[in-house]
Amino acid sequence: MWQHQDIFWGHMGYAWIFWIILAIIALNGKSFEATRRHGKYLFIKVNNETWVVFHFGMTGFVRYYKDDSKAPEHVHCEIEFKNGFKLAYDSQRKLGHVGLIKSLDHFIRHRDLGVDARSEELDEKKFADLLKERRGAVKSFLMNQNVIAGIGNIYSDEILYQSRIHPKKDVKKLSDQEITDLYEKMNEVLDTAIDVRADPDRMPSFFLIPRRKEGEQCTICGGRIKKIKVNSRGTYFCSKHQKGK
Ligand SMILES: [Zn+2]
Repeated sequence: MWQHQDIFWGHMGYAWIFWIILAIIALNGKSFEATRRHGKYLFIKVNNETWVVFHFGMTGFVRYYKDDSKAPEHVHCEIEFKNGFKLAYDSQRKLGHVGLIKSLDHFIRHRDLGVDARSEELDEKKFADLLKERRGAVKSFLMNQNVIAGIGNIYSDEILYQSRIHPKKDVKKLSDQEITDLYEKMNEVLDTAIDVRADPDRMPSFFLIPRRKEGEQCTICGGRIKKIKVNSRGTYFCSKHQKGK
């Protein structure tokens, strides 16, 4: 893939000219050495002092391609390699961003990012300990990037739907069994999403994701899907099997 390929030049379609010059100086003639991910951020190592950071927002993705006919539609940043391939960053809704950083550890500390949702460090005990330090709606806990990094709006709804827990239930009222269920469902939902590359059409039929619409029928219990707001975010849940607010 695109790691270890020499970068020929970098072209940033929408960023400021200052950033373009900095990026070209930082990347030109270099090669990508490694990748890391933390929460919703993807990092590409250029050398010990330079990392490219991507945040994908809701619609962002990267594509590595040679033939221009394979180029994505909304390219905001494009890096060309000496082998003729390109790495394009596409973000239709422009909610993500691309940048250069010097230190990955400093970036994670500075943003106060919590433990990554997929890291081995986040075992069930750590999850329960983090939860017991908090108060407020369980959905807000799952989405708080400063506590656990990586879970967004849609996946927090899915985890709660699978755990049979109301999104507004106070974390202080969760039983030990509910905390265990929540931890297990978090891992199952994220594993499934990775397996199907987050494609809604490939999600299992018992998932909420393919039916995030008010009035849809729940495939778990036959109840109806409702929409509410939790911390001003549109939240879908089953009014029948997610009780206990
Ligand atoms: Zn239901």
